[in-house]
Amino acid sequence: KIGWILVGASTVAREWMVDAIRQQGDAEVLAVVSRDAARGAAFAAQFGIGASYTDLDAALAHPGADAVYISTTNELHMAQTLQAAGAGKHVLCEKPLALNLDDARRMVDGCVEAGVVLGINHHLRNAASHGKVRELIRAGEIGQPLYCRVLHANNLPQHLRGWRLDAPESGGVTLDMFVHDVDTLRFLLDSEPRHVTACATSGGMTVAGLEEGLMAVIEFDNGTLVQVHDAFNAPHSLSGVEIIGSKGTIFATGVMTQRPVGSITLTRDGGSIDIPVEHENLYVRSVRAFQRAMRGEGQPAATGDDGMRALATALAAQQASRSHQRVTLAG
Ligand code: NDP
Repeated sequence: KIGWILVGASTVAREWMVDAIRQQGDAEVLAVVSRDAARGAAFAAQFGIGASYTDLDAALAHPGADAVYISTTNELHMAQTLQAAGAGKHVLCEKPLALNLDDARRMVDGCVEAGVVLGINHHLRNAASHGKVRELIRAGEIGQPLYCRVLHANNLPQHLRGWRLDAPESGGVTLDMFVHDVDTLRFLLDSEPRHVTACATSGGMTVAGLEEGLMAVIEFDNGTLVQVHDAFNAPHSLSGVEIIGSKGTIFATGVMTQRPVGSITLTRDGGSIDIPVEHENLYVRSVRAFQRAMRGEGQPAATGDDGMRALATALAAQQASRSHQRVTLAG
């Protein structure tokens, strides 16, 4: 069995990842690491995990440990990834990969040097819905993609209204949600973001200066113009992705979510049809792909390079919204 160490007694681990690991059949959660001994012990007790640690090195030495899942707050991802890689453990890290590109590069390089797999938990590319949309685009069903709209404005749940709203290193909605949009768009369009223009709001729900709402336009290499809307403070907003091509339009409704839900409509000359989707838990798929990569079978669903590109585009959007300038990404 693949032995996992959870680094971070976090909400995402609690709500999704313990279960996703256990659903693999050939994996087990050996231990959880928390800075707070009581929180770690309570987490371990809640999920029947055999050990909890406050010291990462001690956890990495736990017998049978093969992989770590890092879901601490963003500023910790870099050091913990390098520490785990240094101990020869494969790393599935949460997004955003890091707070800046130099750190992200160190993480990617560090894992290569250590000979371990680095995966980023950009869950949306694991959704059967997004997989289907990608398939339709690649099959030419809408012709050349010209425009795309991403609706990803949410009401940040009450229990997540902590560091996201007041810690500068959280990066606000841009590093929290927009990174996911970029990863999903790269996956759907098979193209790279080139220029970003953005406007943001802050100071309502977040501390002043930390973005809570973002509207961005991304120009992709293949010419597709993409409009993205993310928010923490938009109750009752619908989620979705619309891709408008030269021959048709795909509208995927309710798909910018952690849950395996949503529907897809394809509209062309002659009318609209519903496209069936066989939904499956996104996080189960993410862990499955990661474990396959550990065994030398392919890549994690999102690689370190994917994480870096999502981060680069998010930092560009942050710069664009703060400077009111269009920002061009390096090739
Ligand atoms: P949480 O705030 O729940 O957890 C982050 C850290 O905060 C934990 O590691 C824990 O530290 C500490 N913590 C947890 N509960 C408490 C508490 N009650 N009081 C004080 N500290 C606490 O964050 P999320 O789970 O929302 O996010 C964690 C990471 O995962 C982030 O990087 C985020 O961007 C990412 N994420 C990814 C998602 C995805 O779908 N891919 C979804 C949600 C988040 P300690 O470990 O020391 O106990």
